[in-house]
Amino acid sequence: MEKKQFQAESKRLLEMMINSIYTQKEIFLRELISNSSDAIDKIYYKALTDDKLVFDKDNYYIQVIPDKTNRTLTIRDTGIGMTEEDLENNLGIIAKSGSLAFKKENEAKDGHNIIGQFGVGFYSAFMVADVVTVISKSLETGRAYKWESTGADGYTIEPSEKESVGTEIVLKIKDNTEDESYDEYLEEYRLRSIIKKYSDFIRYPIKMEISGRRPKEGSEGEYEDYREEQHVNSMVPIWRKNKKELTTEDYENFYAEKHYGFDKPLKHIHVSADGAVVYQAILFIPENSPFDYYSKEYEKGLELYANGVLIMNKCADLLPDYFGFVKGMVDSESLSLNISREMLQHDRQLKLIAKNIESKIKSQLLSMVKDERDKYEQFFKAFGRQIKFGVYNDYGMHKDTLQDLLLFTSSKEKKLVTLDDYVSRMPEDQKYIYYATGESNERIEKLPQTELVADKGYEILYFTDDIDEFAIKVLMKYKDKEFKSVSSSDLGLEADESQKEADAENNEHKELFEQMTSLLDGKVTGVKASKRLKSHPVCLSTEGDVSIEMEKILNAMPS
Ligand code: ADP
Ligand code: MG
Repeated sequence: MEKKQFQAESKRLLEMMINSIYTQKEIFLRELISNSSDAIDKIYYKALTDDKLVFDKDNYYIQVIPDKTNRTLTIRDTGIGMTEEDLENNLGIIAKSGSLAFKKENEAKDGHNIIGQFGVGFYSAFMVADVVTVISKSLETGRAYKWESTGADGYTIEPSEKESVGTEIVLKIKDNTEDESYDEYLEEYRLRSIIKKYSDFIRYPIKMEISGRRPKEGSEGEYEDYREEQHVNSMVPIWRKNKKELTTEDYENFYAEKHYGFDKPLKHIHVSADGAVVYQAILFIPENSPFDYYSKEYEKGLELYANGVLIMNKCADLLPDYFGFVKGMVDSESLSLNISREMLQHDRQLKLIAKNIESKIKSQLLSMVKDERDKYEQFFKAFGRQIKFGVYNDYGMHKDTLQDLLLFTSSKEKKLVTLDDYVSRMPEDQKYIYYATGESNERIEKLPQTELVADKGYEILYFTDDIDEFAIKVLMKYKDKEFKSVSSSDLGLEADESQKEADAENNEHKELFEQMTSLLDGKVTGVKASKRLKSHPVCLSTEGDVSIEMEKILNAMPS
């Protein structure tokens, strides 16, 4: 039998790939299963136009068979199989994808579920195997061939025997080395969990014989050993199901299964977008903030699937920082992936999806503000600080998105209110949105400066979080109403008359005030008569834009 050689470039490419494209060895199984799924898909698409071909779902599946004694792992499918030429072209020429060609030919029909496109995934088998043997019987010719290779130094093809149409790939698993053990790829439980992780939503059954021990039915305290063929993948992902068929519990179970958090989600958003960009997503707003949320350790991101196959665990680009608390996943068929399918090629699609997702999250939060205020307050307790940072960061670029998501305690009934709540009940003569800063609501209430504003019957927002005033400075206005600190020198409410009186007093007692100023040198910049005090003899106030609280924070900042 003549041994054929890989072309020189192919040889290098293979070595390069085996050693560098993939970050994890375990993905070889994802690649082989994806190929099997593609092969079954091809029969499915053929059956759509070929009357002689009946697609009976029960006959199409994928089997994963570890054999510890012979140290082999077999992946078997009942797909379309490969002819001698297919074996030569698709497995002998690296970076040649029969699946991509198929997809192109069948563009008119909906071949869009097919996963393969780069023609390299198959070779990932060499990350864990010394020898790869492919026995395939083609639907087209009904003949079987065997392809075999030990990696970089070529392959052989010869006629073979195989009962049914389809492909069987036998991996001779590598021996353990000093640094690396390959035994795990022969362990049922390990294989099962790899399948669950990457291939749970492959649309054909993935079957495995599993041994175990379980309580015996109908008898107490007794156990039995079993060995049975199990159906490992769940096939239809929850996000492809109809929202109407799903209960809150289904979503909560998914949240727990995926380990998105130990809490329960406060809210879920199920998106099925069919417009300019096609994707499905399930997003969760968690109930509690993770312990590391406000630290550098926290990594935002959503799981990203391409056509039901997991591509990335945490795709950060899908979420803006200010919605970094959102958990969940996105599945899209319109992503262009890079060769390892671990990253995206172009981010145009991704950007569109991200924009879309952002607006879904925003409108969900807004609808909670409107219709489920209790729930929203709970959310705001956990993530309100994030929203305020969001307003403040990037020079307020996102303030329009976020301003209606802010809550502050108001002097009225000491309840949390939105800026819209506040503005919509402002009396007509009120010019500004008033706020007071302090360590706590109690402290703020004792501030002499609040008296005058409160006396007018105006509401005051209590800023107790150090970021509050910074965020508001970035906003500047809300619905054309400027923000005004109760301790600013111009409150916009003294009548002209009283200001004149104060000016007169300042003139009259000029020397006294000058003496007081010099006594308090370095502590204050001036002492003045004021008409703003009611029950307090004296108060501190600031000139210009910066409040006392902000000054404190600014002074405390390292410069
Ligand atoms: P890709 O899947 O990106 O096309 P692969 O290297 O994974 O690249 O596979 C190369 C080609 O080999 C596929 O496009 C397909 O034509 C063929 N192939 C691989 N595995 C199978 C299989 N189990 N059944 C039928 N054809 C297969
Ligand atoms: Mg492939």
